[in-house]
Amino acid sequence: MNQVLLLQLPIPRQNFGRKTGNIPLGAACLKQAARSLPGVRVDILPERLASYLGDAALLNLLSDHAPDVFGFTAFSWNLARSLYLSEKLKSAWGPRVVFGGPEVTPDNSLVRSAHVDFLACGEGEAVFRRLLTEPDSWKTGSGGESAAGIFRAAESPYLSGVLEPEAEDLMLLETQRGCPYRCGFCFYNKSRQGLVFAEERNLLRAVAWAVERRIAEVYLLDPSLNSRPKLKTLLAEIARLNLDRGIRLFSEIRAEAVDDELADLLAAAGFYWFEIGLQSTNPKALELMNRPTQLKRFVAGAQRLKARGITPSIDLIIGLPGDDLQGFMRSVDFVADHGLQDDVQIFPLAVLPGTDFRLRSRELGLRFDPHPPYTVIGNRGFSHEDFLLAYDYAEARLDAVFFPLPDLDVSWRAGGGAVGELEKASDLRVQLGGRQYVAKLMLNRERPFEDIRHLARQLTHPYQLLVWPEVGVAYLKNVLKIATAENPFTPLEIVFFEPPEPPRPRELLATVHLQRPHFLDGDLRFLFAKPGNRAVLFTLVSADPAVRFQGDMERQVFWWRKAALPELKDLAGFEDLDGVLIDAPASAQEIVEWQDRLGREAAEKHHISFADAHLQRRWLLLASPDEYVEKVMGWIGRG
Ligand code: SF4
Repeated sequence: MNQVLLLQLPIPRQNFGRKTGNIPLGAACLKQAARSLPGVRVDILPERLASYLGDAALLNLLSDHAPDVFGFTAFSWNLARSLYLSEKLKSAWGPRVVFGGPEVTPDNSLVRSAHVDFLACGEGEAVFRRLLTEPDSWKTGSGGESAAGIFRAAESPYLSGVLEPEAEDLMLLETQRGCPYRCGFCFYNKSRQGLVFAEERNLLRAVAWAVERRIAEVYLLDPSLNSRPKLKTLLAEIARLNLDRGIRLFSEIRAEAVDDELADLLAAAGFYWFEIGLQSTNPKALELMNRPTQLKRFVAGAQRLKARGITPSIDLIIGLPGDDLQGFMRSVDFVADHGLQDDVQIFPLAVLPGTDFRLRSRELGLRFDPHPPYTVIGNRGFSHEDFLLAYDYAEARLDAVFFPLPDLDVSWRAGGGAVGELEKASDLRVQLGGRQYVAKLMLNRERPFEDIRHLARQLTHPYQLLVWPEVGVAYLKNVLKIATAENPFTPLEIVFFEPPEPPRPRELLATVHLQRPHFLDGDLRFLFAKPGNRAVLFTLVSADPAVRFQGDMERQVFWWRKAALPELKDLAGFEDLDGVLIDAPASAQEIVEWQDRLGREAAEKHHISFADAHLQRRWLLLASPDEYVEKVMGWIGRG
């Protein structure tokens, strides 16, 4: 029996329990394609485990599975971590390892590794079947093969039970592969020659399945829905199935293609949101990225959607060749002036492997980070400072925040222990896949290092160290060394409760064994003016509101331990801080009532946390609806 385990690692996050969108659709397609092969068993690491376990816990779990073959889906955000795991697994017992996914391109030297046996370029189904049936095919080390026939006729993996939508109540539906356009920054159009469309009857069966199960959201993974032949017929059929609009549909579309008839059909089918790439209004930039755009038609199409209650989410890119700060600001003005600012996403240009821009980076004067996410650092029109100014301008003009700080969650007890019963507080654990893992490691005393080493292998992704005044700096440095050596890719937050002296982040960072540059260092580069650490967050909690801790990746929170719960006017007094931890001696019922009464208004104005982890979970679900996976945050702890 050939046993295979497929896994896809998530985009790193700073808040435990936040949705990751890490749905292993690619792995599901492979599993489905291999179903008929005799003597083969393919498993997929469940999304909850792949997304929420720290490196050491994940490694432990993978070692328990001990399959013959591991398959990783490699994206820019998980490439380095996937390579790290494959190295560890191979050195443990030598399974075969295959990498596929968008990062596997002929020009990406970062994926080449002695710890990867095979690199599958483009679609994976046919290559995967070959690897499992023809042992000699591993010898070539890499390869690609069209899977058009398999894809066209394949049923959605949700229907065959290979994928479950339950973790995020979201179903991904792959309707098309390939793209008719040739945008210079995009790899999608290079991943296969020509276009292939999933059969309509299979798509409709999948929609009917989602409607029947009341799946909240269905995302049609389609780079440009308008390029599908007979789209209008398909939409009319979807509208018939989704009569009461019980499911909300999401997709991507070229706005210029949206006329009144299409907009009506999209609305009737239950479309709720479209991602629409504008990228720039600068003619030079549009020409260099090979994306001819008729701006008047673009606006008309987007406004037709909006008029029917469908949100057009407009994408813009900073740092495009041919553009400059003034050009970018004009693009922002264009969006705002036409009333399209409801949902705008602004990305710095990523010079991705396999793209035209990567190939022509010298000619185009693009300087970029060679590590994922390959962010452009500058070009002929943009200096480093221009990126910051561009974001500042866009935030002011669009009344948006493009780099929000992580949500505040400095809860430290579970199980209703009394306020201040610190010595009884324990680690806060969660149960995932039948095992317990530590999301908040309690340092309320100097615990034996052997215990810390043991706990470091059970940490979640991400995790927190809750540090109390009893713990000395030298001891903390050792804990950090141990935890990060076991988990070199897992982001963490260190929360200091009433420290006797202000923590020294630089000194602590020097002891951290995270792999640098961490993906977050690049991805959140523009969170602060200076590049640097973005993977370790430092939070100070104190009842003394004198501000003393507000540098990059540092925040200070007021510890509200007064007898009564605060009112909005009380919270307003802490506006120069980064938030308030509510730890008043009130009953759970009183706090629930407070949350319900002030909820939205308080959350809009302030970062608020609750000492009790269960009440904190309730708050996150209330203040950030649709952002967290409730079941993942089932806290287990004492005091
Ligand atoms: S950016 Fe969109 S439209 Fe352009 S090539 Fe990529 S997938 Fe196609």
